[in-house]
Amino acid sequence: DRLIAAAPEQGEIRHDHAIRPKRLADYIGQPRVREQLDIFIGAARRREESLDHTLIFGPPGLGKTTLANIIATEMEVGLKSTSGPVLERAGDLAAMLTNLEPGDVLFIDEIHRLSPVVEEVLYPAMEDFQLDIMIGEGPAARSIKLDLPRFTLVGATTRAGLLTSPLRDRFGIVQRLEFYNLAELTSIVSRSAHLLGVESTEEGAVEVARRSRGTPRIANRLLRRVRDYAEIKGSGIVDRGIADAALNMLNVDHHGLDHMDRRLLLAMMDKFDGGPVGVDSLSAAIGEERDTIEDVIEPYLIQQGLMMRTPRGRMVTRQAWLHFQKTPHDKALD
Ligand code: ADP
Repeated sequence: DRLIAAAPEQGEIRHDHAIRPKRLADYIGQPRVREQLDIFIGAARRREESLDHTLIFGPPGLGKTTLANIIATEMEVGLKSTSGPVLERAGDLAAMLTNLEPGDVLFIDEIHRLSPVVEEVLYPAMEDFQLDIMIGEGPAARSIKLDLPRFTLVGATTRAGLLTSPLRDRFGIVQRLEFYNLAELTSIVSRSAHLLGVESTEEGAVEVARRSRGTPRIANRLLRRVRDYAEIKGSGIVDRGIADAALNMLNVDHHGLDHMDRRLLLAMMDKFDGGPVGVDSLSAAIGEERDTIEDVIEPYLIQQGLMMRTPRGRMVTRQAWLHFQKTPHDKALD
């Protein structure tokens, strides 16, 4: 299991309840997204309309679900959530849609994983607030049309490129979440520590933040593990020394890289001489699914300048060779 996996762990949702920001004003970082949503929500409320359908994309753990909840709270409407893989049949989506109250937010996580038949039902629902569905099969099949209440679809996806263009085109608002910088993550760690009743110093919070891969979910998870360490090995206070010792013990290095990142980068250096190498070869070399590499491991390594995507495949950068104190076989580092 990966301590710094960006997907939620079992039981984590429960912990999360106390620290998940509920209002736009509590949502730290993402200034562009916050500013725009503030305006769009304010305008929709003033016109007493529902907010336009909103697509949020960004790597796991950056706050997409949190934003969907905030939109519903700020619009003072209900939220119903589901996800792409859960909606297997057209009828599953129809059941969700006919259950909506006027103005509700319908949140569909992993919306890129909707099946084509379900997507077909979504188009008229988004565009004309109409449900248009076939029931039954063969000669007994009938098509039914129903009016739906106006609602706001909030879709979340890890990569915008995975969406079909007819679906993408039906969103009036598209927001992209970025990895958080150190100052923002430090605020998130300090805020969570406060809400969880954990005493922490500024340097302690910085140390946890630095090793959290720009991702709030990971920051909160590392904070909980560092708190355990502080209670058993220290005086309960999360300071720099305790945070450093705890994270070293947990095998999370100063860049926030763990064994999985190291395995990927080392495979590229040792087996493929730094690349370029195709993602399928990498997937075979380290025994991880291609999707995991593309969605979870590689975005942060690219953002940190440790590897890059080129038309010929993935390559490690000079910085990665330096990080691991290695030298490529055929190139001398200047
Ligand atoms: P995603 O849906 O993108 O995977 P979540 O919305 O579940 O991510 O966010 C993961 C956790 O990180 C949240 O539960 C929340 O506690 C925290 N979090 C996310 N974004 C922020 C933020 N901007 N400010 C503070 N905490 C955040």
